[in-house]
Amino acid sequence: MSADTVIPAPPQPVIAVAGTSKTFPVRRIWCVGRNYIEHIREMGQDERLPPFYFAKAADMIVPDGGTVPYPSLTKDMHHEVELVVALKSGGRNIPADKANDCIYGYAVGIDLTRRDLQIASRDLKRPWEVGKAFDHSAPMGAIKPASESGHPTAGKITLKCNGTIRQDGDLNQLIWNVPEIIADLSKMVELAAGDIIMTGTPAGVAACVAGDKLECAVEGVGTLSVTIGPALK
Ligand code: MN
Repeated sequence: MSADTVIPAPPQPVIAVAGTSKTFPVRRIWCVGRNYIEHIREMGQDERLPPFYFAKAADMIVPDGGTVPYPSLTKDMHHEVELVVALKSGGRNIPADKANDCIYGYAVGIDLTRRDLQIASRDLKRPWEVGKAFDHSAPMGAIKPASESGHPTAGKITLKCNGTIRQDGDLNQLIWNVPEIIADLSKMVELAAGDIIMTGTPAGVAACVAGDKLECAVEGVGTLSVTIGPALK
């Protein structure tokens, strides 16, 4: 224990970096609420509205190959496969044409969602944390540095459940592209190294249950697989 802290400092959440034993330390997790037109339509929402943001805590990350205990309180946990952007620098009011300079790399993530609780809180005009920000709700594949991947603007983004395709989109369907998201989000908060952004999900979100194996891929970026486990006692 540090002499300066009254309790042990919590562990620093990290994400693996592909091709190295080094890790990426995570500061904040921001998520984009609506960013693919077909998903907005399947959720019955107004597709003309701008995107909005919510957050998960960094210690909700599950590594590639991990097991997600089926969460408490829900009977309808959904998968949302997403392109994840990992920042090496940040700032306020970042111009879109400078945004790529802030990016360390990209990964595949899943925005696990207690859909029944999210919709109930949405309908009551309450915050979304109960539906979105729960333990083990942010599986993350290894980060591929942008120095290797470039800045992908097209490519398949897919999720299979037990071998069957459920989500099958393309990064070229993003309504707001990655530089636009960084520019917009940096008006709301100061972004910084260690921040990651989950950029929204394509159509095909659906429920998963204990025993399901989720396998995700983003073309040119990487893969992620996790297993849904039984609920914690
Ligand atoms: Mn999402």
